[in-house]
Amino acid sequence: MIDANNPALESWVEVPENSDFPIQNLPFGIFRTPTNPAPRMCTRIGDFVVDLAVMNYLSLFEDLEIDNDVFTASYLNDFIQLGKTKTRALRNRLSNLLQKGNEEISNLSWHFLHPIDKVEMLLPIKVGDYTDFYSSIEHATNVGCLFRDPENALLPNWKHLPVGYHGRASSIVASGTPITRPNGQTRPNSEEPPVFGPSKLLDFELEMAFIVGRETKLGQSVSTTEAEDYIFGMLLFNDWSARDIQSWEYVPLGPFLGKSFASTVSPWIVTLDALDPFRVEGPVQDPAVLPYLQYEGKHNFDIALEVEIKPEKGAGKVVSQSNFKFLYWNICQQLAHHTSNGCNLNVGDLCASGTISGKDVNSYGSMLEITWRGTKPVQMPDGSLRKFLHDGDTVIMRGHCAKNGVRIGFGEAVGTILAAH
Ligand code: CA
Repeated sequence: MIDANNPALESWVEVPENSDFPIQNLPFGIFRTPTNPAPRMCTRIGDFVVDLAVMNYLSLFEDLEIDNDVFTASYLNDFIQLGKTKTRALRNRLSNLLQKGNEEISNLSWHFLHPIDKVEMLLPIKVGDYTDFYSSIEHATNVGCLFRDPENALLPNWKHLPVGYHGRASSIVASGTPITRPNGQTRPNSEEPPVFGPSKLLDFELEMAFIVGRETKLGQSVSTTEAEDYIFGMLLFNDWSARDIQSWEYVPLGPFLGKSFASTVSPWIVTLDALDPFRVEGPVQDPAVLPYLQYEGKHNFDIALEVEIKPEKGAGKVVSQSNFKFLYWNICQQLAHHTSNGCNLNVGDLCASGTISGKDVNSYGSMLEITWRGTKPVQMPDGSLRKFLHDGDTVIMRGHCAKNGVRIGFGEAVGTILAAH
């Protein structure tokens, strides 16, 4: 067991029951405060953000041999670039410093602890390249039924390779960033010419993403066995989608403007180390996959996921409860497939899972599926109906693991829909 994951550990910082951030989590993020607007590195415990730049200034990390600049960088890329030996050492050090009994450190806490509601959490990663996979068999089957042919919902390649496409990194935004309803070309009536205007079928996609933590050289392929060495950690990912733009534009080259207007990430990168106790077997893959996609061990994770829609006024409603463990293709297979042609990865690349749907309608990860393309609207607590998202709606995604009395979570990925320009 990784020392910092020990369920018996307790912190001198009060951690509320059901917090996503006990001492066993210690994720990494970037924040700033009104009095010190310079972005800097942090971790989180309970309802407090821990300023790692200040901890470093107090010489609490001196022997870890990490450059001062890493703690005051605007993104975590430089930290992640240090490699797992050093990033692990810092997480272990934080675990020691924040453990009960370390009164010496708790006496200094006013220097580096900030209540979470007094800080602004920023985009944690400068994303170089963004790849979106399509790894949920339930989602791919549902979309195949809705967009194409229920008899042949899965295309012939789907069970042989983790299907994916190259997305747009520039529009990946921090949680809390408003999302403007995109304009685009659609063809609402197949008997008439296409039209241009605000998307009428704006949707979310419940996804998770991993952050590449180690670069590969052009021409290098990474095996499924080595893959986790190249993955730093994970976050929540909302791949906003305009279904009317998507369905008209996507043949033959796949998603484009129906997806590229925005994607929202949660502020905390939870390390693969912290997720280690929550490993589970993946679904049986039948037919057997090619040797380069075969793997040993457990590489799925039991992460409960949910999506809430909160209208501008009134109560919200949880419209989906899914789980990361449903994914047919795991992160090691995704990374092995991504590098199988020799395409190089860089630190800070982001690979999203694709929408994570389960078998039941209440576990579907998009409104497209939940309302079956608008034919079965969801009723909100105020009586209004949702086929897709309305202006003023806020979408909140949450995710957490729980086992042996320890709960490790990701916080929230939040975005509010603004009217189109
Ligand atoms: Ca997607």
